[in-house]
Amino acid sequence: MSTPLMTDSKVDADQLQAFAMQMRGPVLTPEDPAYEEARTIWNGLIDRRPGMIAQCSCAADVVDAVNFAREHGLVVSIKGGGHNVAGNAVNDDGIVIDLSQMRGVHVDAPTGRVRAQGGATLGDLDRETQLCGLAVPAGVVSTTGVAGLTLHGGAGHLRRKHGLTIDNLLSVDIVTADGELRRASATENEDLFWAVRGAGSNFGVVTSFEFQAHPIGPMVMVGAIFYPLDEIKTLLPAWRDYVSASSNELSSVAITWSVPPHEPFPPEHHGRPVLVVAAAYAGPVDEGEPVVQPLRELGEPLLDLSGPWPWLGLQSGFDALYPKGGFYYWKSRALDELSSEAIDDIADFAGRRPSPLTDIIVWHNGGAIADIGESDTAYGGRDAGYLVTVEASWDDPALSDDAIAWARECWDAMGRHSTGGIYLNFAGFGEEKEALVKAGYGTNYERLRHLKAKYDPANLFRMNLNVPPAG
Ligand SMILES: Cc1cc2nc3c(=O)[nH]c(=O)nc-3n(C[C@H](O)[C@H](O)[C@H](O)COP(=O)(O)OP(=O)(O)OC[C@H]3O[C@@H](n4cnc5c(N)ncnc54)[C@H](O)[C@@H]3O)c2cc1C
Repeated sequence: MSTPLMTDSKVDADQLQAFAMQMRGPVLTPEDPAYEEARTIWNGLIDRRPGMIAQCSCAADVVDAVNFAREHGLVVSIKGGGHNVAGNAVNDDGIVIDLSQMRGVHVDAPTGRVRAQGGATLGDLDRETQLCGLAVPAGVVSTTGVAGLTLHGGAGHLRRKHGLTIDNLLSVDIVTADGELRRASATENEDLFWAVRGAGSNFGVVTSFEFQAHPIGPMVMVGAIFYPLDEIKTLLPAWRDYVSASSNELSSVAITWSVPPHEPFPPEHHGRPVLVVAAAYAGPVDEGEPVVQPLRELGEPLLDLSGPWPWLGLQSGFDALYPKGGFYYWKSRALDELSSEAIDDIADFAGRRPSPLTDIIVWHNGGAIADIGESDTAYGGRDAGYLVTVEASWDDPALSDDAIAWARECWDAMGRHSTGGIYLNFAGFGEEKEALVKAGYGTNYERLRHLKAKYDPANLFRMNLNVPPAG
């Protein structure tokens, strides 16, 4: 007689064995030596024990895993890069559809069209596209998954020139809840294509993305200027006034932070609270130099690492600051204006960060992001000129309560200056549930609920920022 295998007894050993035999990639259970590593994700706060981890090696494996999960009533998580702060890539007792073995990237150099499998990281994408002098606009840390980042927007150093990652998405191959592998694009399953561009994790498992890449690099002009944090109330308005009048080639952020205690930072500045003005110019280096120059003259810098940087160096330059296994709780607010009241609040919270690893980032948005209509994709809040991300990061577990409380308090304060929108890739634990998701999608929310009812009426894909099916 077969023994029930999972704690909720939905699968017995024979059923599991039949499933594992059918798959090309391994199906890991708690007895497998590889299970412990496979269940860990980037945020060290998350400690979950799935009943099984299906490490898919191809789209056919994903189809089998989705069918198996649905037929056995299992809780489903999808794991791309595993960077989601809330830990939606893993669950307790259910099945993880793990795409970390599917990281292939193929570039068609003449057209600049790029295909990336559903488990690729931003580093995989950059490495391959730079061979052809191209880049797909995405995020700023190379270990982040292409999938999760893209499916809820995707913002990085090229955002004002080329928009969000979804604005450069041409098609996806996606396995929907009924186990069908579908292509969604501007001409096939158009409604599904609309929905995945902002709410993707609700609609199925994306096995492959097709992007339009753009020429960039190999060198780009970068601004990286460290100013004393205690001058933030004069620096931030000056930064705002300059970037708000700049061309779309310039994408800039201002970060409240502490200088890390290691190379390449000079020992005399280690641990010093700073406002870092960072910027990338999406064009020739010599054109970028005079555009970045005024950012180097906003005050008296402590340190200035500006200059031509390799694109690949820029894209992985922040990796070491966000190690796997650290503790993270990040939230966000969209702002129309960076008012002096908002700056006062940022200064106040920056002055009492719970850890030197914690930061607040003000992203200057607009540009190409706002050139696309609010209802053209599911993504909500394109008009907001700024995004404030409140990034509590720490490495001492004893700080957890204080760090999360600080982030929530800061997030509440930012709410007073906000349009009401948030960026769902920085959504904390999503603990506000429907209110948060509604704030993220704004006027697109109801249409999303109807599409969810069409493609996933039983809400199989619900370990995410969940859009409940209409009705
Ligand atoms: C260090 C760091 C830096 C970051 N920098 C940026 C940045 O510069 N710009 C930015 O926009 N965001 C950034 N983010 C936020 C990031 O976009 C989100 O954390 C995103 O969820 C990460 O995607 P992932 O695939 O790594 O995560 P995962 O945890 O694997 O997945 C995230 C969500 O997507 C779903 N999902 C994953 N793969 C698939 C798939 N193939 N098909 C369908 N659903 C899937 C998961 O179920 C989950 O709900 C950063 C995050 C971190 C931790």
